[in-house]
Amino acid sequence: MTRAFNFSAGPATLPESVLRQAQEEMLEWRGVGASVVEISHRSAEFIALAAETEADLRRLLSIPDNYAVLFTAGGATTQQALLPLNFASPGQRADYVLTGHWGKTAVKQARPYVDVNVAADGEVDGYHDIPPRAEWKLSDDAAYVHITANETIHGVEFRDIPDVGNVPLVADFSSSIASEPLDVSRFGLIYAGAQKNLGPVGISVMIVRRDLLERAGQPRADIFDYRSHAARDSMLNTPPTWNWYLLGLTVKWMLAEGGVTEFASRNAAKSAAVYEAIDGSGGFYRNEIAPAARSRMNIPFFLPDDTLTSRFLTESREAGLLALKGHKALGGLRASLYNAMPLAGAQGLAGFMRDFQQRHG
Ligand SMILES: *Cc1c(COP(=O)(O)O)cnc(C)c1O
Repeated sequence: MTRAFNFSAGPATLPESVLRQAQEEMLEWRGVGASVVEISHRSAEFIALAAETEADLRRLLSIPDNYAVLFTAGGATTQQALLPLNFASPGQRADYVLTGHWGKTAVKQARPYVDVNVAADGEVDGYHDIPPRAEWKLSDDAAYVHITANETIHGVEFRDIPDVGNVPLVADFSSSIASEPLDVSRFGLIYAGAQKNLGPVGISVMIVRRDLLERAGQPRADIFDYRSHAARDSMLNTPPTWNWYLLGLTVKWMLAEGGVTEFASRNAAKSAAVYEAIDGSGGFYRNEIAPAARSRMNIPFFLPDDTLTSRFLTESREAGLLALKGHKALGGLRASLYNAMPLAGAQGLAGFMRDFQQRHG
């Protein structure tokens, strides 16, 4: 069996050892006589797994005790709607800073519930940079300020956490969580769908400062209430147990590999390899993001024309480099280099790019 290097933006590549362990445990898990997907979420064994996963994630991300960790069913988009319902009063102002597609999605999901103030929008220059902090038009009375830590489609990443004063900073970390050390205490809330850097699709992680859970928010059903989820250890209803299990294995793998410091250096080396292939190509490959805002996780890049782009996709697939097609909103190509992508994969891509240029440039 040969597994290709998979550059998919999400759902994305997972560590081979995680998949092997899941395969081995598929029929029978931890001596319970059944698979983890076949047992009750209220069983002692599953409750232990849930507690272990939370403890491991707290260790991996150095999450302070005054933050609750929630595991919720579904993706980040759902959280973008629950966020204003839980943390803003009806019609209250909330500030959004847009650096690409997912920030716009967050605004769309929030609009029915809050008075959205787009404090800065990078669209004026095609989302090629982060609008300078000095130009953000923040409101004094905002419920929160929302940013997208890493824009998965546009390839724009905050390399510094912006200072937004006393208003809680909320960040969508779906595509960059656990990719480097992070000072959680700078945020009111961090949320991330798991399918980029943490495991499989179907489960999201929320890291919420506990005082925010005291906010009244807006009238909402119990199932949409983060306080209820927190009070019941994320088992208000049947959680996505299989996804939780795979997320748990992935977090253990990250800890065993050396944690976020180790991934920070791997991710720097991986993205540098691909950016070097782009920047050293004399304009054959293009990435138009301002160097200081370039994403380490998702690298969109472009060839001179569509014929070369489709040839690149065919030949790269044949070379064992999968899913390099760009998002339909941008076209071109995109390489996603999440934690589970080994350095050899990024180097293999960079080598292929040079070779392709030699043959077709
Ligand atoms: C993938 C992604 C989302 C959307 O996740 P869904 O699971 O499809 O809801 C939101 N934000 C960012 C930054 C993403 O990368």
